[in-house]
Amino acid sequence: VAAKLNSYGFFRTQGFIGGKWVDAYDGKTIEVTNPATGEVIANIACMGGKEAKDAIASAYDAFRTWSKFTASERSKCLRKWYDLIIANKEKLGELITLEQGKPLKEAIGEVSLGASYLEFYAEEAKRIYGDIVPTTSADRRLFLLKQPVGVVAAITPWNFPFAMITRKVGPALAAGCTMVIKPSELTPLTALAAAELANQAGIPPGVVNVVMGNAPEIGDALLASHEVRKITFTGSTAVGKKLMAGAAGTVKKVSLELGGNAPCIIFDDADIEVAIKGTLGAKFRNTGQTCICANRILVQEGIYDKFARAFSNAVNNLKVGDGFSEGAVLGPLINEAAVQKVETLLQDAVSKGAEVLVGGKRHGLGFTFYEPTVISNVNNEMRISREEVFGPVAPLLRFKTEEEAISIANDTDAGLAAYVFGANVQRTWRVAEALEYGIVGINEGLVSSEVTPHGGVKQSGLGREGSKYGMDEYLEIKYVCLGNM
Ligand code: ADP
Repeated sequence: VAAKLNSYGFFRTQGFIGGKWVDAYDGKTIEVTNPATGEVIANIACMGGKEAKDAIASAYDAFRTWSKFTASERSKCLRKWYDLIIANKEKLGELITLEQGKPLKEAIGEVSLGASYLEFYAEEAKRIYGDIVPTTSADRRLFLLKQPVGVVAAITPWNFPFAMITRKVGPALAAGCTMVIKPSELTPLTALAAAELANQAGIPPGVVNVVMGNAPEIGDALLASHEVRKITFTGSTAVGKKLMAGAAGTVKKVSLELGGNAPCIIFDDADIEVAIKGTLGAKFRNTGQTCICANRILVQEGIYDKFARAFSNAVNNLKVGDGFSEGAVLGPLINEAAVQKVETLLQDAVSKGAEVLVGGKRHGLGFTFYEPTVISNVNNEMRISREEVFGPVAPLLRFKTEEEAISIANDTDAGLAAYVFGANVQRTWRVAEALEYGIVGINEGLVSSEVTPHGGVKQSGLGREGSKYGMDEYLEIKYVCLGNM
């Protein structure tokens, strides 16, 4: 593995501050492991508040010049970064599989998706238009300018080590902001590789900085800084709330993409093949470890037994394996804690009357592999319906009417993604309108793209990522009044 990693032109283990690769100031390191084998694949710099402060200073310094680049110049830099990523797509995918575990094909898919944000925002950079407002008096002219918010801190999770970064950095850089990125310590190598490719693309020193190690300490330094004007975060609701509270001290802008509890509603008239394919995609992508994964599968009583049988069969056929093994569609979970959470939620459900149809235990492959699982007779009071499973367990809940489905679906504090399967267009549309969610897939389980806004309502977060709206998160509107003409 070491030889393979070192052959990549972008393999880095130090932090990236002001265009330089640096060790932790006290020389500390932490291990990064392959979840599929438990093998240590790298020792990375374990940084803290001091390094974070220097990264902020670099970003603040670079902001002065980067924000003055023309839109076209920023666009070209992003485009060049995109091109380098695409040229290294397979290798970056291998790195993701190594540290995160997802099957290689899915990892390469993540690189494509992640890169698409850079391409999209390279284009959008040129279309950040202001406004001229019709005046309220003859001797005044009213202008609205769009300006970058300043230094942005991004804190990102391990489930998409690449795409969760580009989704933030793409629009931020396009807008003229500079960044300090704190990737997950479980998957930092992809973030560091992305930074090295940014460096190779000619993105100036200090525009993109990466620090990692002691997450709470780095987080506190980012929150305390008066220079960091925005925090953008993807991760757990608990940490998101802490960051939001911490941002109050300096009144930073916040964008939060937090936990979901996606309902997947299947009506009696659904095309069963479409519903199964869509539900499999929505549930088992990334081995169930995404915030838009179907967490509760609500099936109408008329189709319940038929769906449960056919879906169980399909799940039984999902191949589990090391992400590098041929044909694997489900990899390991990220770590032991993740497996234990799945076990706890499953035990709670079974103790309250749920029935295991398929799977239900650790996989024979050992480590953090878990069997793809379907459980039946779940209700909305069980912990598995209240919390994100973040693993390959599909809970089936039975419902009778459209009203009941909507009521169960909305009975949660989360509101990120929801899915509806059915042939009656009017009904699926009514349900889509009634769902208190930021994203709804109708007869479709995979809905993410760079051209559409991703984000939640209620406690799933604030703000949107992707699409033209994603750019607004990194822009301030300045009103300029020219008077006494
Ligand atoms: P997950 O369950 O997806 O790991 P977390 O919210 O724990 O979600 O982690 C998401 C990101 O938040 C990671 O980069 C993690 O290191 C970071 N993080 C965790 N705790 C803190 C904290 N107190 N301050 C700042 N960042 C944190």
